[in-house]
Amino acid sequence: MHKVYSYGRQSISRGDIREVVKVLRSPWLTQGPKVAEFERALCTYTGAKYAVAVANGTAALHLAILALGLSPDKEVITSPLTFVASANCARYAGLSVNFSDIDEGTACMDPVSLSKQIGPRTRAIVPVHFAGRPCRMQEIATLARGAGAYIIEDAAHAIGSDYSGSKVGSCAFSDMTAFSFHPVKTLTTGEGGAVTTNDGHFHEKLVLLRNHGITKDPAKFSGESDGPWYYEMQELGYNYRITDIQAALGLSQLKRVQKFVARRREIVRVYRKELSGLDGCSLLSADDDPHTAYHLFPILVDFSRLTISRKKMFELLEAKGLRLQVHYIPIHLQPYYRALGFGPGMFPRAEAYYQKTISLPLYPALSDGEVKKIAAIVRTLVASHYA
Ligand SMILES: *Cc1c(COP(=O)(O)O)cnc(C)c1O
Repeated sequence: MHKVYSYGRQSISRGDIREVVKVLRSPWLTQGPKVAEFERALCTYTGAKYAVAVANGTAALHLAILALGLSPDKEVITSPLTFVASANCARYAGLSVNFSDIDEGTACMDPVSLSKQIGPRTRAIVPVHFAGRPCRMQEIATLARGAGAYIIEDAAHAIGSDYSGSKVGSCAFSDMTAFSFHPVKTLTTGEGGAVTTNDGHFHEKLVLLRNHGITKDPAKFSGESDGPWYYEMQELGYNYRITDIQAALGLSQLKRVQKFVARRREIVRVYRKELSGLDGCSLLSADDDPHTAYHLFPILVDFSRLTISRKKMFELLEAKGLRLQVHYIPIHLQPYYRALGFGPGMFPRAEAYYQKTISLPLYPALSDGEVKKIAAIVRTLVASHYA
């Protein structure tokens, strides 16, 4: 195999390019009409009342946490098995972070573990829809309500997924949902992200904080306007704006998102078929209803039964053109979080998962033939080193 396959990549069409070029020829590269148009399209797609598009998914999480207005003695709980941004957003706001272990079948936040981690300072929960599979939001929402905690969904993996009859992002069981549009995700704007919410107060906060905390709306001024140039900076915000160039790409991509989701589901079906019954290799539990927009396809290899290490397996896969990734190193094992008092043994299911997992290539451009070839490479490698 001469082609190199990574775990994820974007799908860019001629139409996408056309839409981006149109903006480049227009007067507005940023702060123009495309951003608002993209936000309206995200509302239509997710069913949320408001959407605020921002510079990236991390900014989306950061602004969502800030919009809650929590005091620094409060705590946010997320999954240990996610990208560091899911936890870092709380640290940016000066809040404490805690984790709740995963459900082994889905690698999502486990509500039973969550119920044990919730404490008197817990004011927000950040469930991560791992690989696109929605968390058990009804149970998480019940726990959050009992604790007086807000919910911000980290849906960086999950645009296009459905949960309990509505799209992820509808905020049916949460206060806000954060998306990322990085090129490895299901929909891309290059860099980009968005927060959706049904709450007008959160929406206002998000809009304000995205643009330095500045308002130009006379109805919101606390002082007297000096003239038509007047604006007020009312809070310490950021420049987390997304450009019209990116928004135009997002709009164009959003028109194809159902196709992306459908193709990802087909690829997962082929992998599942090709990799079933392979000793030493297991998969996450199947989503029996087609509700998941799959972002990743992780396999779980029991290296205690293999004669090679994961490092060696990565080398052998790389030699076959598969340049893969591991999702994720548990956050509580990162040096920064260890310095805050976390360490090995605290979230054993996430740690055990990390020891086994490898993400196979999953993106719409893969053909069934390529998926079968990749699966065959994995099968052969695992089978020939199984002890
Ligand atoms: C990608 C990702 C983010 C961060 O998004 P960026 O757009 O890269 O800032 C946050 N959480 C999860 C789970 C992600 O996968």
